[in-house]
Amino acid sequence: MALLITEDCTCCDACVPVCPNKAISAGDTIYIIEPAKCTECVGAEDSPQCQLVCPADCITQDPKHVETKEQLEAKYKGLH
Ligand code: SF4
Ligand code: SF4
Repeated sequence: MALLITEDCTCCDACVPVCPNKAISAGDTIYIIEPAKCTECVGAEDSPQCQLVCPADCITQDPKHVETKEQLEAKYKGLH
């Protein structure tokens, strides 16, 4: 499952450098995660790094992008 940034985002930029897949960027009003690049950090880390560093606690699961761990691992391999 990819992760999703909610409207509580304060655009602090803390999440961008910790993403192993370069999946996060600044959108028009809040930061956004590109679902095709987010692996929940599977392949690189034990837990989603963006959630760990976000001071606004505004990164959540994206119910529109449900994936198994195997699918996330395959996505990570495809990206690297
Ligand atoms: S969960 Fe990991 S891969 Fe997905 S956006 Fe956050 S830091 Fe990037
Ligand atoms: S760390 Fe959180 S508040 Fe900061 S830009 Fe990323 S999603 Fe927004």
